[in-house]
Amino acid sequence: MSARKVIVTNNRIDRIVVVGGGTAGWMAAAAFSRYFDNGRRRIIVVESDAIGTVGVGEATIPAIKSFNAMLDIPENEFLRETRGTFKLGIEFVNWGRQGDRYIHPFGAFGTDLHGIPFHQLWLREHARGGGGNITDFSMSAAAAALGRFGRPAAGARSPVSEINYAFHFDATLYAAYLRRLAERQGAIRQEGRIVKVHRDGESGDVTSVELEGGRLVEGDLFLDCSGFRGLLIEDALETGYEDWSHWLPMDRAIAMPTANRSSPDPFTRATAHAAGWQWRIPLQHRTGNGHVFCSAFMQDDEAERILRDTVEGDELADPRLIRFTTGMRRKAWSHNVVSLGLSSGFIEPLESTSIHLVQNGIARLFGLFPEKDISPVERDEYNRGVREIYEDVRDFIILHYKATQRDDTEFWRSVRDMDIPASLARKMELWRLHGRVFRENAELFTLPSWVAVMLGQNVWPEHYDPIADTLDENRVAQAMEQMRAGYRQTAQQLPSQEQFLRSANAWAMADEMPLSMGAAR
Ligand SMILES: Cc1cc2nc3c(=O)[nH]c(=O)nc-3n(C[C@H](O)[C@H](O)[C@H](O)COP(=O)(O)OP(=O)(O)OC[C@H]3O[C@@H](n4cnc5c(N)ncnc54)[C@H](O)[C@@H]3O)c2cc1C
Repeated sequence: MSARKVIVTNNRIDRIVVVGGGTAGWMAAAAFSRYFDNGRRRIIVVESDAIGTVGVGEATIPAIKSFNAMLDIPENEFLRETRGTFKLGIEFVNWGRQGDRYIHPFGAFGTDLHGIPFHQLWLREHARGGGGNITDFSMSAAAAALGRFGRPAAGARSPVSEINYAFHFDATLYAAYLRRLAERQGAIRQEGRIVKVHRDGESGDVTSVELEGGRLVEGDLFLDCSGFRGLLIEDALETGYEDWSHWLPMDRAIAMPTANRSSPDPFTRATAHAAGWQWRIPLQHRTGNGHVFCSAFMQDDEAERILRDTVEGDELADPRLIRFTTGMRRKAWSHNVVSLGLSSGFIEPLESTSIHLVQNGIARLFGLFPEKDISPVERDEYNRGVREIYEDVRDFIILHYKATQRDDTEFWRSVRDMDIPASLARKMELWRLHGRVFRENAELFTLPSWVAVMLGQNVWPEHYDPIADTLDENRVAQAMEQMRAGYRQTAQQLPSQEQFLRSANAWAMADEMPLSMGAAR
């Protein structure tokens, strides 16, 4: 039998046009210029200074470290250039009930014993009247509570190795950093406002974008990173948008930076208000703040007043209103256009997932990179995967609203009582029975995240998993006490985040006085 040969084609994509130079555009340009620029292929980024970027998007999740690693970005340099800080999790204030406070930390809770998930052992201990707070068993939470940071060392036996972290950074500086990187790698930037999109009369594929003044930028594959508007994916291709605002009714945000009053905390804070919530993202040189709210329950001026009344430092710019509709594009990839970033959809930034969705889209496109005659099978596979991750994120965000006991405003009563997607209802029911969480496919949020939010918002299972009874209660209690003490003592020995950044040469304003020596809290 003669072996079949893999066919060599001359059908390769040579011109990738990235439409938009926000975070999504420059992330894509940096990644594609690094891995797909074989000398013949060209990566062109078209952006318009006159239009500008959305300019928010400053908190991330730990997976961003693998994006940076893929681009060989040195972490300390990256932090210095973007005025970045470490993020060990998100502190939620007033979510379950007014006055409640919990942290959703990155990384695991405790250590599983004999294959039994730690949280089940903790639930049993709690039922016996012990256990304390589950967040006492998270290294990231213990460090965050003291404002401290330590970088986990691979293979180290110290609890510090259990720290998991992401970053906060200045969105504009991040895009600028990636732009420098992409241009060094050969990406070409084309300034100009796109006024027209040209399509092939037969296939309907996009052939070029036309700039003001008539210049055409032609391409084989177009990455639509044009922001909420979706210049190619929606304006030109009319792909359609799936609106999820019946589950996530937030539709506005007012953003405003303030001066730092103290050394930056290594966590994001999300404080619930009467019809929404407020983010606080501490950077090296300022704090990013914003009030995300639902216009059906709150006027813009009231939302602005709440924001201004509650921020901590001096205002550094006027408040800026941003409108959005939660949902996703019906197809992230249509014809020869792949949408990335806000053009592909948006879910409110409660768990800082949008930049990750860009990263995920890029990685997915790497895995399914097409020829010029795009296979519908591969395109469908891309769209299926994107839908899956969007729906995962959607469900996890809805959980924060559904799992509230607040009834002090009409808004909270309405989200508490709303119908939820069947996929989330099933998860909540499984939790309610025996505190079990099942991760489906490559779901983004894993067991510790569900445990943190469920328990943080007072959603208790009726029983713990009976498997926990196979271990001796007293020995488990002893092991847990050792874990708790280990995390606490380790956290106390870590430097403050500012001290850490300074000593790692990751602090941009090295000549300035420390914001505070900030070690002790
Ligand atoms: C309120 C809010 C808070 C957020 N917080 C977070 C967060 O904490 N964490 C997180 O991960 N994400 C967050 N996000 C999402 C994050 O900001 C975006 O995912 C990210 O910035 C990517 O945006 P983008 O590049 O898709 O769009 P944009 O930043 O809007 O960029 C669009 C680009 O397209 C260009 N463009 C548009 N039209 C044209 C035209 N006609 N001609 C030429 N160029 C054009 C623009 O000039 C610009 O360069 C937040 C979003 C919002 C709205």
